[in-house]
Amino acid sequence: MARRRLLWQLYPSYLLITLISVLAVSWYAVHELHKFHLDQTRLDLTARARLLEQYFIDKADILNDEPQVDLVCKEMGKASATRFTVILTDGRVIGDSEKPSDEMDNHSDRPEIRQAMLGKIGSEIRRSDTLQMDMMYLAIPHQVAEKELIVIRAAIPVVALAQALNIIYSKFALGGIIIALLAAVVCFFISRWISRPVEELKQGVIAFSKGELKNKIPIPDSEEIGALAEAINLMAEELDQRIKALAEQRNEQEAIFASMVEGVLAVDLNENILWMNRAAEKILELKSEEVKGRFVQEVIRNPDLQAFIRRSLSEEGVIEGDIALRENGDRFFQACSDKLRNAAGKSIGIVIVLNEVTRLYKLERVRRDFVANVSHELRTPITSIRGFAETLLEKGKQSPEEADKFITIIFKQVKRLNAIIEDLLALSRLEKQTDDHEVKLVEAKVKSVLLTARQLCELLATEKNIELKVDCPDGLQGRLSVDLLERAVANLIDNAIKYSENDSQILIEGVNEEKEIHINVKDQGCGIAKEHQSRIFERFYRVDKARSRKQGGTGLGLAIVKHTAQLHGGSVRVESTPGKGSIFTIILPKPEF
Ligand code: ADP
Repeated sequence: MARRRLLWQLYPSYLLITLISVLAVSWYAVHELHKFHLDQTRLDLTARARLLEQYFIDKADILNDEPQVDLVCKEMGKASATRFTVILTDGRVIGDSEKPSDEMDNHSDRPEIRQAMLGKIGSEIRRSDTLQMDMMYLAIPHQVAEKELIVIRAAIPVVALAQALNIIYSKFALGGIIIALLAAVVCFFISRWISRPVEELKQGVIAFSKGELKNKIPIPDSEEIGALAEAINLMAEELDQRIKALAEQRNEQEAIFASMVEGVLAVDLNENILWMNRAAEKILELKSEEVKGRFVQEVIRNPDLQAFIRRSLSEEGVIEGDIALRENGDRFFQACSDKLRNAAGKSIGIVIVLNEVTRLYKLERVRRDFVANVSHELRTPITSIRGFAETLLEKGKQSPEEADKFITIIFKQVKRLNAIIEDLLALSRLEKQTDDHEVKLVEAKVKSVLLTARQLCELLATEKNIELKVDCPDGLQGRLSVDLLERAVANLIDNAIKYSENDSQILIEGVNEEKEIHINVKDQGCGIAKEHQSRIFERFYRVDKARSRKQGGTGLGLAIVKHTAQLHGGSVRVESTPGKGSIFTIILPKPEF
């Protein structure tokens, strides 16, 4: 239904009431005026008739002379612009101011005459047959003798009366129209005056509904509307405060969710995505805005997560599960879900928290691999020792030369076992020192470290006739753990010797870079293929197991180098071309003086 403005409801009502009032008052006034006018005319005619009657009283003889009566009527009528008629009881006209009386018909049937005959004043308005116009007649009885009565009748045309009334009517109509117009204007302003506060109230409430809660509604004078406006203003103020509090709360929550490293994802009961935080966007490589409201199975391709969401929706309580994302490198997550409930406590979906455990997972794998590797590395020499010891027991006494050979082998395997255990211990010490920040770094010359490391490897180098060349500025200093670094550089030189041909050269450099100190060990050996380069720093990783073992390697040397570099706050790197040689670099941060 079309709704009208209050103004256009009030205004027509006021106008109608005013117009009806003006019309009613006008009608009543005109009616009363008309009546008054007729009464006045009647009184006037009565007075005129009485004047003629007085004349007849004064000159009673005339009544016996009918032509004389007719003459008097004519003269008096002319003088007073009145039609006078004198009628006898039998209705015969003996005098008339307008016509010769003998030409006039019997008047006994005229209503005013009949009234007068009864002794009353009779009057009537009617059309005169004689004069052919509307007239007001007034007849009075005049007692001539005890039983003799004549009727004196005075009449005037009512045309004048009608004309006078018409003028009054048109004046009333004009006045009515002016009053109506004035009333229309006044009514409009009154209606507007009444409806304006309501209109302002409406505008204010519309503004509030659009969120403009700061502008207050003006308080009008009207008690009821004023109280309403005050109540609405108060409501808006409270609403504003609550919205602010809610917004603050939401911002805080958003900030918390945004800064969380865990991915948080909400899904409704129909498996449509409701919301996700920034971390979840990154993990799932999705944009929250783009996937909001979309079907989970359509957006999230990972089968683990799809299955987890289904399970969480169908089962009650907190659900936990493991999820592997393999799309972009292996990433592992621990997922935990619970029901999402609305204010009434009704379940409306689920909320899932994805906690990345890739590092833990990988560490666990490294630990498992490490235990397996250590067991394997230790088992090989132990099996060998056991076998030769048994053989020694059985056959040793028979052949002392054989026994010597077996003991040599056993001794070699024991040395190997010792080397592995030494390296493992060294590594675990390094790790502990790194974790506990135990190691004291001291100001030391890099060149002396390199020279000591060379010294440690000289014997092996001489065996293979390999030249070990040291090139380092004398003044190059760093904050170092001298013993550990000597061991690490010695490991690199040791490797370089092991994996180089006889009669080659190894260059040990200390380089003063802008922000770092580089220790390079360059050889001209067999080199390392690209696919192995990233893995050789792992424990027990070897490119060629047989060759390494033959050389007496434990597979832990580079792991020790890596940990030593990390303990100094640095790193290691390798550049290598198979068949040409390798450059191993320990990168150390430069001390700030
Ligand atoms: P290992 O005791 O076997 O030498 P490392 O941890 O020191 O163990 O080295 C790991 C692997 O890296 C070695 O088995 C070898 O295959 C490769 N490697 C290390 N240094 C060199 C080098 N200078 N030239 C070629 N290969 C090397």
